[in-house]
Amino acid sequence: MKNISVIGSGTMGNGIAHVFAQAGYEVSLIDINAAQLEKAIATITKNLDRQIAKEVITEKQKVATLKNITATTDISSGVKNAGLVVEAASENIDLKLKIFQTIDETAPVGCILATNTSSISITKIAAVTKRPQLVIGMHFMNPVPIMKLVEIIKNPATTKEVTETIVTLTKQLNKIPCVVNDAPGFIANRILMPMINEAIYSLHEGVAGVEEIDTIMKLGMAHPMGPLQLADFIGLDVCLSIINVLHDGFQTPKYAPCPLLVEMVSKGKLGIKTGEGFYEYTTGNKDLIVSKAFQ
Ligand code: NAD
Repeated sequence: MKNISVIGSGTMGNGIAHVFAQAGYEVSLIDINAAQLEKAIATITKNLDRQIAKEVITEKQKVATLKNITATTDISSGVKNAGLVVEAASENIDLKLKIFQTIDETAPVGCILATNTSSISITKIAAVTKRPQLVIGMHFMNPVPIMKLVEIIKNPATTKEVTETIVTLTKQLNKIPCVVNDAPGFIANRILMPMINEAIYSLHEGVAGVEEIDTIMKLGMAHPMGPLQLADFIGLDVCLSIINVLHDGFQTPKYAPCPLLVEMVSKGKLGIKTGEGFYEYTTGNKDLIVSKAFQ
């Protein structure tokens, strides 16, 4: 396996392309949005520069990594030589089903089709392809170049060989694989998202302010980031999509999204990527500043 295609070049896609290219794979980075692809290459370059500053890589490795990445808006040509496709497009089931139908028709026979979905059923995604045995979840964590874990999700048809191939590949990226079965939210988000939703409910009900909630969870539970800051980091739209998948999947009210989260997403306050969420990100100040709406 030499060629990897990554579909979607947003928060996760650029990081996934980065780590595969750095490990020596030829990466085809695909997005429907050409401007987003340019932004992704700029982000990868900036993150490689950070790695140079920290003496993790050399200038020569940076050049080699960037040389391994080709950006394209054409999905069919982008996957035609792939041994593995990692889909990291927006968290929307209809979109993902459409992408998997397309790549099943265009990717080589035998190519493994992985998805970086945070919560959507791998079984449902596999079912729209003619190769469910080659479909698997490869759930990287954000920020991809830094976080060690990759949650690997088997669907009932995934073969042992495919799971083993992905486990080996993950280790080659210097990451740690954890294999789980397919269920809504898998493990990471089944546990994380109810905590974030509960933090938003606590704010919504006036139990405490943004800073208090995050400080309690940071200092009290030794979390590196409070749940509201983490939600801004992940993207509030992504959080809402995942909570909705848990709600629909388990059919229990305990996963109902907090109305404040729904409202913020509908207003386009999505966290870091739009400059405002529970905190403000437009001031250029490195300190965390609580958004005016919650001061
Ligand atoms: P994002 O919104 O930052 O990026 C999504 C990208 O997909 C955009 O650049 C968009 O242009 C592109 N896209 C949309 N439709 C496409 C299509 N048909 N073909 C090609 N590209 C298309 O989203 P993200 O945060 O990077 O999330 C991507 C996936 O990774 C989602 O499934 C999400 O659940 C998962 N994920 C996100 C995080 C996180 O912290 N943000 C963590 C783990 C997993």
